[in-house]
Amino acid sequence: MKDIHEVIIIGSGPAGLTAAIYTARAGLTPLVFSGPTPGGQLTTTSLVENFPGFPEGITGPELMDKMREQASRFDARFEDLAVTAVDFSSRPFKVTAELPTGDPPRTWESKAIIIATGAATKKLGLPSEEALWGRGVSACATCDGFFFRDKKVAVVGGGDTAMEEALFLTKFARQVTVVHRRDKLRASQILQQRAFNNSKIDFAWNSTIQKVLGEEEGRVTGLLLQDTITGALREFSCDGLFLAIGHLPNTEIFKGQLPLTEDGYIIVHDRTKTAIPGVFVAGDVADQHYRQAITAAATGCMAAMDCEKWLASVGSN
Ligand code: NAP
Repeated sequence: MKDIHEVIIIGSGPAGLTAAIYTARAGLTPLVFSGPTPGGQLTTTSLVENFPGFPEGITGPELMDKMREQASRFDARFEDLAVTAVDFSSRPFKVTAELPTGDPPRTWESKAIIIATGAATKKLGLPSEEALWGRGVSACATCDGFFFRDKKVAVVGGGDTAMEEALFLTKFARQVTVVHRRDKLRASQILQQRAFNNSKIDFAWNSTIQKVLGEEEGRVTGLLLQDTITGALREFSCDGLFLAIGHLPNTEIFKGQLPLTEDGYIIVHDRTKTAIPGVFVAGDVADQHYRQAITAAATGCMAAMDCEKWLASVGSN
């Protein structure tokens, strides 16, 4: 007979790992599927300065390692696999993942589920962006900034992520230009000020990227920018482009299983409950608004507590 888990957690960012710590401490021995990016989005950020408890800041990967270590200490189990399908049509719920060995996909069963699959970088949707991905186009300054020592790079976006990426890139690049489609930033005041005060950062206001240039050369050589007011086109030379225009929720596997918003976020009822009793949700996959590590962790705790209570209410049914 197949093992039926008490709870399976899908995702291992701050939401999933906090849910793991809480459900593990409640004796539910959670099984966590780490997903395609174990540790989630924080593993691709630099210094995290606003997670309470780390007065000097902590790097994203280090913070996530500590959370995983903490969950493991209380007997959370991990499968470092990406879930490829779920079946929530009847209980126990079913979760399927491809195996790296090339063996046929395997299915696990669980009485309850906590979804914490997070969100992924939004792309501009240009063919040239795809063609030059990894050849100068990136969505992670921490991962790729090093390759742009003394080069000229652009960051697209006007939010906190764009400012953080731009500031981080000044450690390597000679010049960092923030390309923004309006003339006002959306980023928090403190990050705006840091960017304005940094002599290596300048701004291309009211500009959209029509094309990433360099396909023939096989590497980014510039951008074709359009002025949003005059419509005028101009070529801007640079060696790299970093995307920082927001995120899309990772909900592909839940389509047809759970109601989603127009933008693809999971619809939450009554704190962390989804439309299906026994399926809970935490973190950025249901949060278009706050999207902070600390709010993801908080909802992970809430989902774990709601899940524990629900499991107790249904007993062995
Ligand atoms: P965001 O706040 O949604 O900002 C996205 C930016 O990209 C906006 O400036 C937007 O322009 C622009 N944009 C969106 N689609 C675009 C497109 N197709 N073409 C060109 N520009 C486009 O996303 P985020 O910066 O990733 O931040 C997400 C959340 O995480 C926020 O709540 C933020 O506060 C938080 N965060 C916090 C920190 C921190 O506190 N240290 C760090 C990173 C992120 P418009 O402004 O015109 O809409």
